Amino acid sequence: ASMREDRIEKTKTVCTYCGVGCAFDVWTKDRKILKVEPQTEAPANGISTCVKGKFGWDYVNSEERLTKPLIREGDAFREAEWEEAYDLIVNKFKEEKEKNGPDSLAFITSSKCTNEDSYAMQKLSRAVVGTNNVDNCSRYCQSPATMGLWRTVGYGGDSGSITDIEKAELVIITGSNTAEAHPVLATRVKRAQKLHGQKVIVADMRKHEMAARADQFVQPAGGSDLVWISAVTKYIIDQGWHDQAFLNEHVNGLEDYIKSLEPYTLEYAEEVTGLTKEEMIDIATSIHNAETTCFLWAMGITQHGGGSDTSTAISNLMLVSGNYMKPGAGTYPLRGHNNVQGASDFGSMPDRFPGYEYVTDKDARERYEKGWGVDLPAQPGLNNHEMVDAIHDGNLNVLYLKGEDMGIVDSNANYVQSALEKLDFFVVQDLFLSRTAEFADVVLPASPSFEKEGTFTNTERRFQRLYQVFEPLGESKPDWEIIMEIANRMGADWKFEHPSEIMDEAASLAPLFAGVRYDRLEGYNSQQWPVAEDGTDTPLLFEKEFPFPDGKARLYPVEWTKPLEFGDEYDLHVNNGRLLEHFHEGNMTYKSEGITKKTPSVFLEVSPELAKERGLEDGTVVRLTSPYGNVKVSCIVTDRVKGKEIYLPMNDAGEGAINYLTSSHADKDTDTPAYKEVSAKMEVLQPK
Ligand code: SF4
Repeated sequence: ASMREDRIEKTKTVCTYCGVGCAFDVWTKDRKILKVEPQTEAPANGISTCVKGKFGWDYVNSEERLTKPLIREGDAFREAEWEEAYDLIVNKFKEEKEKNGPDSLAFITSSKCTNEDSYAMQKLSRAVVGTNNVDNCSRYCQSPATMGLWRTVGYGGDSGSITDIEKAELVIITGSNTAEAHPVLATRVKRAQKLHGQKVIVADMRKHEMAARADQFVQPAGGSDLVWISAVTKYIIDQGWHDQAFLNEHVNGLEDYIKSLEPYTLEYAEEVTGLTKEEMIDIATSIHNAETTCFLWAMGITQHGGGSDTSTAISNLMLVSGNYMKPGAGTYPLRGHNNVQGASDFGSMPDRFPGYEYVTDKDARERYEKGWGVDLPAQPGLNNHEMVDAIHDGNLNVLYLKGEDMGIVDSNANYVQSALEKLDFFVVQDLFLSRTAEFADVVLPASPSFEKEGTFTNTERRFQRLYQVFEPLGESKPDWEIIMEIANRMGADWKFEHPSEIMDEAASLAPLFAGVRYDRLEGYNSQQWPVAEDGTDTPLLFEKEFPFPDGKARLYPVEWTKPLEFGDEYDLHVNNGRLLEHFHEGNMTYKSEGITKKTPSVFLEVSPELAKERGLEDGTVVRLTSPYGNVKVSCIVTDRVKGKEIYLPMNDAGEGAINYLTSSHADKDTDTPAYKEVSAKMEVLQPK
């Protein structure tokens, strides 16, 4: 190789955008990213990536990166040395703990950070500060799916691998804009549909790309999915199409469940959902005729007042039709962030230790007390949503938040921002001075995935290693190092020299990850949890039994919760979700020149009918107002939406941010914000 080539480095990493978990080599020279090269051995993606994975990395070297700690002085920040920032943080944490007790502090970790970062954060919270007030941003998305699966099948993870979805005879997709939100996974479905005649049913309010490609597309009324899913399940049982042998052997609670389905007749479902009887019978017949069905869902299901119940109804349907315990069948909640699965897996939850054991479980707690050498709090702590209320109520004074633009991505942004203003002491750890960081007292510069080692767990429960591509920029540091320093200055004695040692500790304490080890994850190797001590992993989550004491799954009766009503004045329902090119509030993707050139800002999709009625054209600027705030955005006319349905992508942190419209209403079982239950009125500001 020539000298020139010698300086080119290739490093394996894992994408830090969506939960598909694409892995690839990054080619670099000095700090320049030359290209991203996917490899055939990458388990989730093979040789594919999407536009974000391929081109979304300019943020790593962005001039806007934080390179030194910042400390507030009046209305502004000044740069500071780490030493001073650490001293300030540790003194404030200690002072608050002494004065008002450990539960007046709280900790929020990020779904973009590694498993090891999340483990460190919950250990700091529990073992050093002494509170279970620790959570992560899966509270904003997939907690309801996890709840639905815990109730019915015992584990909150995808039933199989992403490649298994290709084997399914039937794929049902609801509340998921898969082609834009999980592009590489969607490609697998598109391929199976084309090559193996896989049948695809899409139920969604919006005619997105997968809906347009579907063999059957139905448009249920907003927030009504539990009703049609239960009606289809009831119809299957009424026809005698349920899998009696599977139910006898593996499932409890059929009798009570059948009783609970009584109200869900086709007639009732027709009235509530707007689907016709024929459409529902067609869905039931397709499930009956298919040997294997996979059910995929995302935020369109979970971000509702009854999000956990609808997720439960999906799992009930898959149990009744015998669609568990075989490849190409089962439930697939599609995880949003790259490591949203891992952030919860590693214990950044107010009621669970790493590996999902309850903090109230005495045996588990004693194991952690022994492992960490401290007494631990036995009461569950506050979740994100409760933390905001607690700040407003004066019961929570100090917050340490990492990698999360909470002020803009949590629902009812005005209410959340006014809470952040009230905090006595607020530490934000991030790559950029985000909208949320502007409320902080101290801002700590963190390093992104390209600048650290660790593991991510993708939507299919798969651990993958990432290797360091660059040295941390400026004085930024990997999150786990910062957390360890704070812990030790507070009196702990952590001695982790590499994230692998954090994983070793987690594996020694959490039975779910007993055999996860870095040497078993070398290069493109991966493991899917549960992982036994000898390293045997579990691609198919349920093989012979379900993880309940008697080994049987449970049918769990649920009832429909009506979506929140906003009053007649707010006459437009504002659906919201992702765009292909941008990611969430856009803190990373808007730093990419190529991507931003293609999609410089978000736009509001309006239907041709509404455009005609209100005189809207492409480019018309409108103001949307809900009881909680307003946004300003320009329109695009499209038949992807119909009637009074409008669609606002969530990828804007400025005047168009959806959460200036959303309320604090939340899923009743998990407190996940009901982002999808929002209506607004429209005012035309500037005709084109
Ligand atoms: Fe990254 Fe998801 Fe795109 Fe894969 S599909 S490259 S994981 S954003």
